[in-house]
Amino acid sequence: MSYCLYCHQSYSETWSWAALFGLNAEPLLCQSCTSSLELIMGDICRICGRPFSLFPEQYRHGDSCYDCIRWEEDEEWAGVLQQNRSLYVYNDFLKEVIANIKYRGDAELMKAFYPIIHKTCKPMIRDSILIPVPLSDERHYERGFNQAELLARGINRNLNFSLKRNIHEEKQSKKNRKDRVKNKSNPFDIINSEEIIDKRITLIDDIYTTGSTLRYAAKVLLDAGAKQVSSITLGR
Ligand SMILES: [Zn+2]
Ligand SMILES: [Zn+2]
Repeated sequence: MSYCLYCHQSYSETWSWAALFGLNAEPLLCQSCTSSLELIMGDICRICGRPFSLFPEQYRHGDSCYDCIRWEEDEEWAGVLQQNRSLYVYNDFLKEVIANIKYRGDAELMKAFYPIIHKTCKPMIRDSILIPVPLSDERHYERGFNQAELLARGINRNLNFSLKRNIHEEKQSKKNRKDRVKNKSNPFDIINSEEIIDKRITLIDDIYTTGSTLRYAAKVLLDAGAKQVSSITLGR
């Protein structure tokens, strides 16, 4: 018998043993919780990884979504984020799961995703350096952990911490994208730039929402000499 890391109900190991042995990577959740997650499959935006099946056809331009086209049309942001890939649709269930991790301190819950994130993301990161998107020191202290770092550890133990965040994320989240791009200074900074020069970087974060956090992080990395920046998130 195993216990679901989210709802704590016991569930039969015939469901989970394959996951434990990495044969068929499933999250360490019961069948009912697992079925509430929506894996992103099928056609996706070449850049941000958004599934085309979830938004109207008019927001699609060729192999990209309209949001990404707008970023790419902006000279300052074109090509900054090479690509993002996300595992799950950020639906109500995943929202709850992430809220439990971030705001109710259930750091263990992130481990539910280790088998699947390890199996699906390990081949994507190849020779790149893994950098979890940092929290500000104050937020990190308050929460006790960084959820992006927890997630990244499920892919690889060897992480890089050259990226630093000086401004709280919450302060930006109320503004729309235009305000953010226009009025905000980059919340990120680089420490130890020698570690990232000429390197491929994969940023890890819990969610991709507007894509601006990841692009700001990518921009300081590129400005500091990184070769290319991509990202992986749990939700999109
Ligand atoms: Zn469950
Ligand atoms: Zn896109």
